[in-house]
Amino acid sequence: SLIRINEINHEEPEITDAPGVQDYEIEGNVEFRRLNFAYDGKQVLHDVNLQIPAGSSLAIVGPTGSGKTTLVDLIPRIYDADPGMVLIDGRPIREYTLSSLRRNIGFVPQETFLFSDRIRENIALGVETATDAEIRISAAAANIAADIESFPESYETVVGERGITLSGGQKQRTAIARALIRNPRILVLDDALSSVDTHTEDKILNHLRDVMKGRTTIFISHRVSTVRNADRIAVLHGGRIVELGTHEELLALNGYYNDLYNKQRLEEELAE
Ligand code: ADP
Repeated sequence: SLIRINEINHEEPEITDAPGVQDYEIEGNVEFRRLNFAYDGKQVLHDVNLQIPAGSSLAIVGPTGSGKTTLVDLIPRIYDADPGMVLIDGRPIREYTLSSLRRNIGFVPQETFLFSDRIRENIALGVETATDAEIRISAAAANIAADIESFPESYETVVGERGITLSGGQKQRTAIARALIRNPRILVLDDALSSVDTHTEDKILNHLRDVMKGRTTIFISHRVSTVRNADRIAVLHGGRIVELGTHEELLALNGYYNDLYNKQRLEEELAE
């Protein structure tokens, strides 16, 4: 086991700070400029041009495999696009130190990883200075505080293999609390509400709207009910942005978004 752990400890990350990078304040304007991106020669994003003004919200919809996750992964440099294709506040992201870039981004991935540790440590991951009050405020904003407070030892409860098992939705909300505690200028949610019911989803989104006022929010979702209130919605198809606008504007285009809307409305009617 120690050999395997050492292998990981000695692995050099491929994405690192270039010489001369600096810490900059981040306001939160995110831009993709003539962005192309390929995995091992297979191109998955084609000429993406998009500006997301600081403080606004953008929802991304589109079929599986259209490049949604890849697009948001490029913002905190989980993968690297070519220089100058991804910018924050007009400055290529490679000019920021990785630490200043990532400190300002709250990122909720599709698959959440919780450590078998106390829930407070899971929320405060990466923010050593977090106080109990800050942990509680983040949990409340992510709509998980009441659940946690009903656990036997509240925030001291151990989760995971040595402790209690959380539902998929509770895990997702814990991950949202973990992202919010960084007090990020930019929040990215990659399908982060897929395991909660629509009622809980509405509650979380309402909280988030308050928390994220003045900050940039980018979220991927399949539910029209989730994305319809975003300032703008982008439809990604085959690695290209094929529709961009508000809910009403996209409905009027009679394209992918309008189909999605009609399909989900029909599903709801059938469910009733
Ligand atoms: P979406 O989020 O819209 O489902 P993704 O960004 O996950 O789309 O995937 C876009 C395309 O890139 C798909 O064809 C997928 O198979 C491919 N892809 C995603 N991640 C990787 C990876 N790490 N290595 C190689 N190909 C990948």
